[in-house]
Amino acid sequence: MFKSKDPSKMNKEEALKELIYLSKIIERHDKLYYQNDSPEISDSEYDRLKGRNADLEKYFPTMVLKNSPSNKVGNKPQSKFSKVSHKVPMLSLSNAFSLEEIQEFFNRTRRFLKLNKNDLLEVLAEPKIDGLSATLIYKDGNLVLGATRGDGKQGENITANIRFINDVPYKLKGNFPDEIEVRGEIYISNIDFEKMNLVRIRQGIPPFSNPRNAAAGSVRQLDPLVTKTRNLGFYAYNWGITSTPLGKTLVESRKALELFGFNLTQPSKLCSSIGDIKKYFEELFEKRSNLNFDIDGVVYKLNNLSLYNRLGETDHSPRYSISHKFPPEKGVTILNNVSFQIGRTGAVTPVAELAPVTIGGVRVKRATLHNKNEILRLGIMIGDTVLIQRAGDVIPQITGFVSSLRSKSAKVINFPKFCPSCNTLLESIDDETIIRCNNVKFCNSQKLGRLIHFVSRNAVNIEGLGEKQLKELFNLGIVKNFGDIFRLSSEGSIEIHEQISQLSGWGALSVKNMLESIKNSKNQTLDKLIYSLGIRHVGYGSARLIAKYFIESERFIEEVQKLNNKNNLDKFSENLISINGLGNKAVDSIINYFVNNISEFNDLCSYINLEELIEIKKDTPLSGKSLVFSGKFENLTRSEAKTLAENAGAFISSQVSSRTDILVVGDKPGIKLKKAKDLSIEIMDEKQFLIVFDRKL
Ligand SMILES: [Zn+2]
Repeated sequence: MFKSKDPSKMNKEEALKELIYLSKIIERHDKLYYQNDSPEISDSEYDRLKGRNADLEKYFPTMVLKNSPSNKVGNKPQSKFSKVSHKVPMLSLSNAFSLEEIQEFFNRTRRFLKLNKNDLLEVLAEPKIDGLSATLIYKDGNLVLGATRGDGKQGENITANIRFINDVPYKLKGNFPDEIEVRGEIYISNIDFEKMNLVRIRQGIPPFSNPRNAAAGSVRQLDPLVTKTRNLGFYAYNWGITSTPLGKTLVESRKALELFGFNLTQPSKLCSSIGDIKKYFEELFEKRSNLNFDIDGVVYKLNNLSLYNRLGETDHSPRYSISHKFPPEKGVTILNNVSFQIGRTGAVTPVAELAPVTIGGVRVKRATLHNKNEILRLGIMIGDTVLIQRAGDVIPQITGFVSSLRSKSAKVINFPKFCPSCNTLLESIDDETIIRCNNVKFCNSQKLGRLIHFVSRNAVNIEGLGEKQLKELFNLGIVKNFGDIFRLSSEGSIEIHEQISQLSGWGALSVKNMLESIKNSKNQTLDKLIYSLGIRHVGYGSARLIAKYFIESERFIEEVQKLNNKNNLDKFSENLISINGLGNKAVDSIINYFVNNISEFNDLCSYINLEELIEIKKDTPLSGKSLVFSGKFENLTRSEAKTLAENAGAFISSQVSSRTDILVVGDKPGIKLKKAKDLSIEIMDEKQFLIVFDRKL
């Protein structure tokens, strides 16, 4: 290390020597930071090097090097990508693995829409590219924003990088809408993927395991110029908000996107029967090794766009589309052992420890065995040669074993009697299918499991604080509960920051990034907050139903605070029960959670800024209203009626109460009608309901 000598006491030779040294070392740290995402020095140390370089150059202006670090563009580190909320959520597609499941998709869609077996349902088939989903917003034809999919609701702002992706038009052509959001896949071609990995191997950097990771890693570069060198491509396949409709059908709309200057996923084909679909799927499967990019299946979307709003979506996927995955890749390996993991709810999950094997480009070392029944069904023993399969991004599965290769030393898989984490006697439920540790409050595995769930992407989403890091902080006693995570970022925790930055794998910069990420995670919506608590039986879908029902998040918090009073408890549970789609188990579990954990919850809430759920709903006569349906409808199914109402901003309850705004009645409405009349609630019939949607009978 050079001592920083006063420049006025240096001669030209000394200065030149140090400038050369500085240019090399700064270049090395730039590379570590930008290309490998693994800095070795802190930001302040980096700034010190750059400052020293600038000082010397100022004193010896004739000595400035051609490749001086101060001449480089795109050098300024961006601390991280800012977040972008998607105005229309970027949902993932539901998966099918067989033609039977595709047939079931058609049956389901027909039932939902009350269509006959002979009514035509056309779908457009296109390849499912294995890349990184992104969305591009154009105003007056100019690209103004690019973002990743993220968790579907919020992604990262990658505008600076997306400008360097081939096939992303900077300016739209033709007769484009004033505002349009175009969605598609960023991908890397197979040839560029191979090339990039060759370079990495030569530089001693680990190669990317698949083209999807390579594309994602290349886009999420802090220096956009690195993205430029990666030669990424973009295929459009969908759109979000658009100020004028692109067409009446998917085929028309795709044509429009093409005229604006986008490349579309190809080959695509309009299919109107299972026969057409089978043919397309098999042909594409045959052809896939000749394509220039990686695909993992086929996507089918209904061609008639007017059905999209009628079908709506489930919590995770639209109902108008489905993806058909290619058959899974298979492998064979040895089952070395079975370990037992205690999840956040106390359930004991057996995990297969495998001799490492590469399947479809991904190294597999472990596979879940789910439960005791699954082990019995498979009939496997420790030491067996087992068959593994892996489909797309689905977790690897053991599907069987080679009986002829079973050795005499193969061992039976025994379940533990006591919790491997806290030594509590385990409880067996349902004929020993589920084995559980009931030490909810003190079992460390469960506590850690809840913390890991809490920071995960679909919960409060704290980057830089993953499973590995949390485990470390938990074992050191630094993070014991949800509130502790936020306390880390408070002013008085400098000593703890020092302590963490000394741990192996951490450094001043990663601590800084983590703290920033914690600060950024303080703003949450109620659905995410409820989901992040990891309450048993309460997945994201249920959490969302609750958040939508309470509308104002403050009201939910207030009600939870008052649960120590019996009347309030009854009222709260009545409210939960009336939420359509929320099961009894979930209701019991939620009440149980808040009664027993109110102080931890309050502690957490003292750090959270609750934001209201932003639902992108048009101004309709139903928005914000609480609706109950009763009786049989003539022209639409109950599911479609609910979807229409939800899309118009209403929320649906299963029971009439004083909070109900409108009861929609069909034939034979029953007791709900009487109750609604008693409470003077507005009543609508099917015809009036449909008029809201401009649909005539
Ligand atoms: Zn335990």
